[in-house]
Amino acid sequence: MPIELLVHVIQDEAGQPECFFSFVTDLTERKAAENALRQSEDRLRFALETCHIGAWDLDLVDHTAYRSADHDRIFGYPELLPEWSYEMFLNHVLPDDRTAVDAKFQAAIATQGNWNFECRIRRADDEVRWIWVTGRHRTDAAGGMRCMAGVVQDITSRKQAEEVLKQNEQRFRTMADAMPQLAWIAQADGGIHWYNRRWYDYTGTTPDQMDGWGWQSVHEPAALPRVLERWQACIATGEAFDMTFPLRGADGMFRPFLTRGVPMKDEQGNVLQWFGTNTDVTEQKRAEEALKKAHDELETRVQERTAELRDSQQRFTSMLEGVRDYAIIFLNPDGCVNTWNKGAEHIIGYLADEIVGQSFSRFYLPEDIAADKPGQELRTAMAEGRYEEENWRIHKDGSRFWASVVLTALRDADGKVNGFVKITRDLTARKQADAEIRSYAADLQRSNRELEHFAYVASHDLQEPLRTVGSFSELLAKRYHGKLDGDADEFITFIVDGAKRMQTLINDLLAFSRVGSRGQPFTRVKSEEILQTARKNLDVSIAESAAIITHDLLPELVADRGQLTQLMQNLLGNAIKFKRPGVAPRIHVSATHQDGAWQLSVRDNGIGILPEYFERIFILFQRLHGRDEYPGTGIGLAICMKIAERHGGRMWVESEPESGSIFHFTIPDTNQIS
Ligand code: ADP
Repeated sequence: MPIELLVHVIQDEAGQPECFFSFVTDLTERKAAENALRQSEDRLRFALETCHIGAWDLDLVDHTAYRSADHDRIFGYPELLPEWSYEMFLNHVLPDDRTAVDAKFQAAIATQGNWNFECRIRRADDEVRWIWVTGRHRTDAAGGMRCMAGVVQDITSRKQAEEVLKQNEQRFRTMADAMPQLAWIAQADGGIHWYNRRWYDYTGTTPDQMDGWGWQSVHEPAALPRVLERWQACIATGEAFDMTFPLRGADGMFRPFLTRGVPMKDEQGNVLQWFGTNTDVTEQKRAEEALKKAHDELETRVQERTAELRDSQQRFTSMLEGVRDYAIIFLNPDGCVNTWNKGAEHIIGYLADEIVGQSFSRFYLPEDIAADKPGQELRTAMAEGRYEEENWRIHKDGSRFWASVVLTALRDADGKVNGFVKITRDLTARKQADAEIRSYAADLQRSNRELEHFAYVASHDLQEPLRTVGSFSELLAKRYHGKLDGDADEFITFIVDGAKRMQTLINDLLAFSRVGSRGQPFTRVKSEEILQTARKNLDVSIAESAAIITHDLLPELVADRGQLTQLMQNLLGNAIKFKRPGVAPRIHVSATHQDGAWQLSVRDNGIGILPEYFERIFILFQRLHGRDEYPGTGIGLAICMKIAERHGGRMWVESEPESGSIFHFTIPDTNQIS
């Protein structure tokens, strides 16, 4: 036990020790207090040193300063300086901060209060650092000793971190203001304490109006309860908020916004605050609606089209059923019958039940099946799209019929053949009729030939007795004219005339019958030369009638020179003969080329022909006038027509009574030199 021993000596008057008083004090408690104080100081020092906090104690009277080693180190001195003063401290403070720091110091002294501040210093090693200083004015118990004591800490790292934080915050706000969406930050309890500029621009509100739960004022009243319900549920559970609702703009219009709020949580999962955005989805909604409308329209159209298709399918099926003259058969790619219409039943004889699923080769003759004709036809239709022919096929009862067949390949969307449609017609009746016509034509040709031969022989043989009649009747007229009575003279004249007419008729008939049988070979002939020859043959009548004949440039043709001359001569002759009384004939011959043939035309200004006679005048012996009016036999145009036809051409007339006629005939380019 620590004790304190105090001994007092009591002296007598002479000053000699008289007695002793001793006082013994137990020091245990005091020692314990001292120990505690030391321990606490040690702890404090340890704490200060660990945190690199410098301690200082400035005597305001003698201006000395106690400092811990960390204090001087903070100011850039590795070792503790021998002395330190307030001025030395002030010199380290950057000039910009100095006045404020000093003012605070003076105020703390004046008020005997605290001295707290942060400032920048330039250290002894010239480095600029941030420090935090806190001090307190102190006086001793007697109020005599005055000092200011406190601590100093280098807070540069904290300041730098704060600066980075500030910059980040600045960057975040710039970005948040720049983004096209509305953005906000809410506290954990849901009250919103920050909005970006877009929010205020769009809503036309002020920060005061919006603070906390003020955002409700821009919501549509009808939609607000649901929004609140959802928002509060998210605040309670800490789950992200996601909802679309209308927000009123500064213009009073509500627009839909997709709103998302994401919670920011601490490590324990407690929500610290919420970050939210509102995205205007008006366009998106509009596009969605347009898309939906387009989709609905498309759907309607598809339904309509499907109905139409069904209708047309039904129409098609009933049409197939209704067609009786055509066998319309659908085959699969192998040639087996898929569908069989009534026409097929009618033409070929099988009922649908008997033939569906069977090969279409059943309709072919055995020799065709042996030669794989059905297979070849399918392959041709597949390669070329279509196969067509007229040939024999057989009915169910084995009898033949002459069929016109068209086989068409059907393709799917990828162009792959997925079947065939076969359309068959029974042309047996037509074939028989053709055969009959051919036989009639042959008969006709034969009888024509016989007739021509007969006409030739008859006219030829008639010439001889006629010549006898003619010459003797002329002799009679010459020798006995005026010697018999008047009637006899007249009768003899009739006989002479009749014989002459008969002569002309027989000559013309001979010419007609010779067109087919006595034609000359085709050669290259210049039609202008033909015209000149015909003209020359007619020069007497041309001169008598004062006819004027003109022509275009005329082509070279492949033809029978003699017959072409006769044709041209007949037309010119008629043009002169059928002139209008008192009007000199004007004739023009022209040529045009079209449809692979030359067309020659002879135009006159004669009496013309009524349209109802346009065809009749080309028939043998057909005349429109009496012999007294215009002489002739009615054979000339029939010869012309026959010549044109022998050359592969045709002949016709255009005319107007009292104005003139144009006779046309053609000579094809295809005529070969024989
Ligand atoms: P024909 O001249 O011997 O009478 P065609 O066979 O040459 O016989 O002519 C038959 C008929 O056609 C003529 O009788 C005449 O009535 C009519 N015809 C022919 N050519 C002409 C023409 N250029 N103008 C008017 N009528 C014509």
